[in-house]
Amino acid sequence: MILATSNLHKVGEMRELLPGTDLEPLPDGYEPPIEDGDSFEANALIKARAAHAALGGAVIADDSGIEAFDLDGAPGIYSARYAGEGASDGENLDKLLSEVDASGGDRRAAYVCVIALVEEDGTERVFEANCEGTLLRERRGEGGFGYDPIFVPDDTGAEDGRTMAEISAAEKNAISHRGRAARLARAHLTA
Ligand code: IMP
Repeated sequence: MILATSNLHKVGEMRELLPGTDLEPLPDGYEPPIEDGDSFEANALIKARAAHAALGGAVIADDSGIEAFDLDGAPGIYSARYAGEGASDGENLDKLLSEVDASGGDRRAAYVCVIALVEEDGTERVFEANCEGTLLRERRGEGGFGYDPIFVPDDTGAEDGRTMAEISAAEKNAISHRGRAARLARAHLTA
């Protein structure tokens, strides 16, 4: 099965989350489609359908991001380029912090992940999950990626207070949007 992503971090994470599925990355020279959908689901399907059409076989693709409640769900599908095309994780995180600080209200947020599966015969399925938490005012921790240093997940418990960048990869997989969506996909694939 092909995992339609060019993000090597995701390939590693998904291999751990979907053991036994023998995930392969996209081949060299593959031209990815333009992700111009208006939702996580639409973009995950665009990626999975394009790889299935070009390469055949079963394909999964994911699309994910973070939604700040007080910003009407921004950055949402624009999470990877919130501070502009080619922006770094740090620049995107700084922009989210300044927007949420400026809004002055609710600091609640949710990571969202949609995994789209196109099976060998073209059958399509989507699996969606989220992970709610609170945005800090300053970074803490060196692990994870993206917005993790300012995101304190609810699921570690009210007393815990560690960010996603301070918990182990195993702890993150157990509670994250991607971990949850992957377990839904896995349950389907192994049914
Ligand atoms: P995608 O590669 O199009 O799914 O974009 C995902 C973007 O959302 C990433 O570049 C991050 O900015 C953000 N994101 C998604 N999942 C996570 C996560 O687990 N931790 C931190 N940031 C994430």
